[in-house]
Amino acid sequence: MSTYRKILVAVDLSEEAEQVLQTAADIAEANQAELYILHVADTPVSPYGQFPEYAAPVSTAEIRASIFAQLATTVENAGLSRELITIDFGRSIDSIIEHSDEYQCDLIVIGSHGRHGIQLLLGSTANGVLHHANCDVLAVRVREVIEQ
Ligand code: AMP
Repeated sequence: MSTYRKILVAVDLSEEAEQVLQTAADIAEANQAELYILHVADTPVSPYGQFPEYAAPVSTAEIRASIFAQLATTVENAGLSRELITIDFGRSIDSIIEHSDEYQCDLIVIGSHGRHGIQLLLGSTANGVLHHANCDVLAVRVREVIEQ
């Protein structure tokens, strides 16, 4: 059986992210592997938004801090440290592949669908990563979280 040394888990901000993180955490523990958690945010078009004269400036640092706070809770619910989180800006598939290559990961863990179910038919993030990755890819079939 293969042993994984470095695992990259890609997470969106959906409720289902915890299931993906939990699976990645279990595999990392079983393999005693290093784990990297990556979220890719959209690059802001302008720090002032569409209407600079009206909008309050939002810096990438503020966006990063807000996403980090949101993600940290999910990550800690999965029993992992918030220090494993990296937040990047750009195209998610490109960033996931670039980070996996940079960290020399031998496994990428990703959800089989996130919030955009229709993209499953058109080419989801998981599909794009599977086609471009230079290492193994595990697609975790996430169950939809029903709000009570
Ligand atoms: P989707 O393509 O939206 O169905 O998402 C499928 C999976 O891709 C999610 O469960 C995550 O593992 C990953 N993913 C989607 N969007 C992002 C993102 N912005 N940053 C990191 N991973 C993502």
